[in-house]
Amino acid sequence: METAPHQVELAELSIDTRHYIGGIRVTSAQATGTSADHSPATFDSISPIDGTVLACISRGGKAEAEAAVAAARSAFPAWRDLGPRGRGEILHRLADLVEANVEQLAQLETLDNGSLLRSHRLGVMPRVAMNIRFFADWAMNELQHPVWQTRGHDNVVSWDPSGVVVIITPWNAPLMLATWRIGPALAAGDTVVLKPAEWTPLSASYFADLCEQAGMPAGVFNVVQGMGAEVGAALVAHPGIARIAFTGSVPTAKTIARAAAENLTPVSFELGGKSPLIVTDDADLDLAITIALEQYDNAGQVCLSGTRLLVHEGVAEEFATRFAQKAALIVQGDPRDEATQIGPQIHQVHLDRVAEFVERAEAAGARVAIGGGRNSELGGLYYRPTLLTDAAPGSEILTAEVFGPVLTLQTFATDDEAVELANNTEFGLAAVVVCGDRQRAERLTKNLVAGTIWVNCFFVRDLAAPFGGSKNSGIGREGGVWSFDFYADVKNTVYAPSGWKE
Ligand code: ADP
Repeated sequence: METAPHQVELAELSIDTRHYIGGIRVTSAQATGTSADHSPATFDSISPIDGTVLACISRGGKAEAEAAVAAARSAFPAWRDLGPRGRGEILHRLADLVEANVEQLAQLETLDNGSLLRSHRLGVMPRVAMNIRFFADWAMNELQHPVWQTRGHDNVVSWDPSGVVVIITPWNAPLMLATWRIGPALAAGDTVVLKPAEWTPLSASYFADLCEQAGMPAGVFNVVQGMGAEVGAALVAHPGIARIAFTGSVPTAKTIARAAAENLTPVSFELGGKSPLIVTDDADLDLAITIALEQYDNAGQVCLSGTRLLVHEGVAEEFATRFAQKAALIVQGDPRDEATQIGPQIHQVHLDRVAEFVERAEAAGARVAIGGGRNSELGGLYYRPTLLTDAAPGSEILTAEVFGPVLTLQTFATDDEAVELANNTEFGLAAVVVCGDRQRAERLTKNLVAGTIWVNCFFVRDLAAPFGGSKNSGIGREGGVWSFDFYADVKNTVYAPSGWKE
């Protein structure tokens, strides 16, 4: 099909490769020679499935960051004044449009990030629509606090729109993680500048088209594309923004926090994890193994994964044997095939990083119980589901986030020891407990440091529940009212009982 110079046809969608700023598609200033920035004007988006170059994407810099923040700032007063209902109508239309495009969005995202088409289709894209609908509804119906009195004075709490939110997102669940921030930010009355990860820019670009189709005024939602150290750094350092919502790694979070400190910009950080999965000796082992196998989902590229299997020594051998039997049956392959359970890693750079973690672990004495290398039958970016045992206490593989299909197995004798092992990392994002006794489980969960704990289950997520990480896994909580507490300026107005004219 003949396409415009800045359009590519993918998954039956026409994707614009340019930034979306103030309701207009623009190439980078350096492409037109109006910027002092000498970095290239574009970058390639490459499919992890087969290395195909999918699109040549505009690569922004300081000029685009400036333009996008200016557009979002000028759109802010009208969006703020529309109120929750006026915004809600537009956001509901946007959610409808996402739902109408689930199949195409699922295919596009799979091409760009290599996650399973089936899960994009059935879980992720419906959740994208939900991220928008849920927070629009919350702003309309739930965002209120009962008035209470102090010596006869009324305290009236309101959540006022705060301004421009910069949202910086990673590549492992691009549109889902972006809309988890965009939904509440827009519902709260803020305007948004999104910088998607450079490995996965495509769904954000199409999402901008859907915003326009939904009738969102120009400048309310903007997308700038490019490298974190270029346009990302320029956005988070901008003095004209009200909030930064970042999902990504700890080192990048520290860089962003330094930039934010200059302007005292509030941040919401959702960072990495090294979550424990504790299996007690009274646990249902079939359930424990099923849940443990789920930690390979998305080829291990999930911040919440319980990658450290901590199994009671009395059941560890049986657990390991049966886990290995089941893991051997995992189907790895093209993420578009229905039968595939694990697809590729996102990028060659990332695959190498994962492989090197395992090589260093082996060199330090760990034993490969299953997997432990690239899947040579498939070629490309596939890494085998891997289980390591006998890693030295405190070693890198037990403490650093790998973000690949690599689990470790450790044993414990007492529940106190399990908790000590579980809490023994810099992270505190999630924990999983598989246990046969509710009171025992409650004693364990009480002492675990984590933002979310799943007991005898995994990945049950309610958008009304608080979500975030403890320790180095994050700053702040989002979900339900916690999202609005971050995106809005929470205000208390105190009305005296007297002083009113009749
Ligand atoms: P990962 O290791 O998963 O790629 P990063 O934290 O490096 O995680 O990246 C997550 C997001 O942060 C990406 O969109 C990336 O472009 C962006 N990013 C990276 N460095 C910076 C920075 N200095 N300032 C702002 N954003 C950045």
